[in-house]
Amino acid sequence: MARDYYEVLSVSRNASKDEIKKSFRTLARKYHPDVSTEDNAEQKFKEINEAYEVLSDDQKRQQYDRFGHAGVSGAGAGGFNGTAGFGGFEDIFEDFFSSFVGRQGGTRSASRRGSDIRVDVNIAFEEAAFGIDKEIQFHRLEVCDVCEGSGAREGSHPITCPDCKGAGEVRQVRQTFVGSVVRVAACPRCGGKGKIIENPCTNCDGSGRRRRKTKLSVKIPAGVHDGLRIQVRGEGDAGEKSAQSGDMYVVIHVTEHEFFKRRDSDIILDVSVNVAQAALGDKVQIPTLEGDVEMVIPAGTQTGKVFRLKGKGVPRLRTDGTNSGRGDQMVYVTVEVPSKLTESQRKLFEELGESLGNQITPQSRASGKGFFSRVMDFLGGEQ
Ligand SMILES: [Zn+2]
Ligand SMILES: [Zn+2]
Repeated sequence: MARDYYEVLSVSRNASKDEIKKSFRTLARKYHPDVSTEDNAEQKFKEINEAYEVLSDDQKRQQYDRFGHAGVSGAGAGGFNGTAGFGGFEDIFEDFFSSFVGRQGGTRSASRRGSDIRVDVNIAFEEAAFGIDKEIQFHRLEVCDVCEGSGAREGSHPITCPDCKGAGEVRQVRQTFVGSVVRVAACPRCGGKGKIIENPCTNCDGSGRRRRKTKLSVKIPAGVHDGLRIQVRGEGDAGEKSAQSGDMYVVIHVTEHEFFKRRDSDIILDVSVNVAQAALGDKVQIPTLEGDVEMVIPAGTQTGKVFRLKGKGVPRLRTDGTNSGRGDQMVYVTVEVPSKLTESQRKLFEELGESLGNQITPQSRASGKGFFSRVMDFLGGEQ
């Protein structure tokens, strides 16, 4: 005859969850077969576990209150979900064991946190500059919707592993000349989970999780750069049982722009002007990320001259995902010499040639820097 669960845990029928948990802890410590000196410790320990499994779960407790043992016994019960009661169970054993046995690094693998996953996302140059809410599709492990993560077939539930009595660990005591040595190892029968599934859920083969395609909108802040990783907490693979989900890392790939290049938060644009514009000066329209702006090319502009359009770059991204200020757009000028001339242009250049004369001027290395020296300066250590 099974004993009344309330009696087993020495609590009243209207005991609170906390009272039940507290009493269970005390009794589990007293009767754990590995440490207890009481008679029948193993039997009692089993009873305590069974009682706690039911009374710590609101739904099961209700069933038990209405139908007694018949309401909660194994496969016949139907309708209730066998996992919930175990939520608090494992952490109780966590402290229980650490207080008695020196834990031997990672032998017990109870409910494991889900894995982190990586999703690569391609975005346009402008999207990287100004940010975007990007809907992305990817695969991840999600909690099985049939068994709700328990891994057990409908109507059944995981049972406490009989080999380790739910602890997930087995202790081996060896006698040596210095005394007895206790070794703690993961239970081979349940793989350290403390529970075994007799009738696995057919939807997830007992794993409690299934790989599924998911859609998620991810906020990509303004100013991200190629190769940046954005962490999205809790959107990775679901954990085992009710364990925490992993994180998702969105890796940004920025598509190259036809004209613009990025250097940190600055935008670089190469433009060419003709000889007349360079010599006489001009007002020109320069493309920026937000449309054309007017820029003055002063008379006498040389190849390699860099103009700065303040605040026309990309918002600066801080590590916390917020922005502070904006970069500039650097306009890099090349004076283009015409490679083909019309008849009238040729005449004009001939006149110009006569007027300018036919001397060359060697440039001193110290003062007048040539085009290539200036390019190297501008690029700094990059090349
Ligand atoms: Zn399932
Ligand atoms: Zn086991």
